[in-house]
Amino acid sequence: MNWEANVRKVVPYTPGEQPFLRDMIKLNTNECPYPPSERVQRVLREFDASDLRLYPDPGALGLTEALAAHFGLKREQVFVGVGSDEVLALSFLAFFSGGKPVLFPDITYSFYEVWAQLYGIPYRCPALDEGFRLKKEDYLTENGGIVFPNPNAPTGLVESLETVEEIVAGNPDSVVIVDEAYADFCGISAMGLVDRYENLLVVQTFSKSRALAGLRIGFAAGSPKLIRYLNDVKFSFNSYTMNRLTIACGKACLEDEDWFLKTVGKIVSTRERMKAELKSLGFSFPDSGANFLFVRHESVPARQLFSALREAGIFVRHFDRPRIDDYLRISVGTDEEADRLTAFLNGYLKKS
Ligand code: PMP
Repeated sequence: MNWEANVRKVVPYTPGEQPFLRDMIKLNTNECPYPPSERVQRVLREFDASDLRLYPDPGALGLTEALAAHFGLKREQVFVGVGSDEVLALSFLAFFSGGKPVLFPDITYSFYEVWAQLYGIPYRCPALDEGFRLKKEDYLTENGGIVFPNPNAPTGLVESLETVEEIVAGNPDSVVIVDEAYADFCGISAMGLVDRYENLLVVQTFSKSRALAGLRIGFAAGSPKLIRYLNDVKFSFNSYTMNRLTIACGKACLEDEDWFLKTVGKIVSTRERMKAELKSLGFSFPDSGANFLFVRHESVPARQLFSALREAGIFVRHFDRPRIDDYLRISVGTDEEADRLTAFLNGYLKKS
C-alpha cells in the first residue's frame, strides 16, 4: 500500500510546447527555421531499412570520428549522445559527484536544476548582475563543478573567451562544462581550449544551427580522460543511445559546410534585423549572440503579449520565474516570419 514511499519524486523540466497548427509561426523552442542539408535528406531517402535489424555501433564511431576530424581533435576526445540534453545529463552524473555544491547562474537553462535535483547533487546559483552578465568571481570559489551556457539561455548574452578561460583555469579541481548549444550564432567557442585544460568539457548540439532537432544529436569535446569517464557512465546506462539512421545523418550534415555557413549566416542576419525592428517598437533586450532574442516591452507586460501572440498563432516562450517574468524569448525565424511577427506587434501595440 505504501509503495509510493519508495518512489523518486522529481519536478520535471517543462519543455516548450510543440503545437501542430497549420500556418502557425513557431518561435518558441529555438529550432532552425530552414530544412536540413540536402545531404541529410539524401541519406534519409537512400537508407536501407534492412540494416535496422542490427544494433548500431555503441560508440557511434562514424559520427564521433567525423566530429573529431571537423574540430581537429582525436577520436578519444569526442562523445556523442541523444541531444545535448542527454550529454549534459550523463555529464552531471559522471562529473558532479563530489558532494560540494555545483555552480550555475540563477538565470540559465532550467534543466540544470532538474538534473541536480534528480541526482541529489547539491547546487548553488550565483546571481547574474543587473545586466544579466555572469560575475566571474562567483565561479572562483570552492565548488563541486561548474556549468553554464555560452551564449547564456534565455538571455542570449555571450561571455568572452577570456572570461571562460579564467573560470576553467581557476578551477583545476572541478570539471567545468560550457554548454555551447548556441555558440555557432556568435562564433565564440571554447572548443579550442580542450587540448589545454583537462577539466574542460564543451557541449554542443545539432538541434539549432544544424537543423536536426528532430533527430536528437548532441556531443561533447574534452580531454581523453574526461571522455573516458563519460563513456563509463554512458555504458553503465545504455550502450546503444545513438541509432543507425541518426549516426548516418549526423555525419552527412557535418560534411556540408557550405550549407552550414549559409544557414547560420541567414539566421544571424535575420536576428540583427529583428533587433532593429523590435527596438523601434519599444522593446529592449540584452544583445543576443544566439538564435533568439530575450525581450521586454517598455509598457506592455510580457504575459499579455504572450497571450496575444499565441492567439494570433505566433508561439514564443515566457518563463514564469523571478527576475525574468516580464521577458519573452523569441526564436529567430525566417525573414518572412520576422516580418509577420513585427507586423502583428506593430498593430497590437498601437491598439494597447
Ligand atoms: N542547452 C541549452 C542551453 C539549451 O537551450 C538546449 C535546448 N533546449 C539544450 C542544451 C538541449 O538541446 P538538445 O537536447 O536539443 O541538444
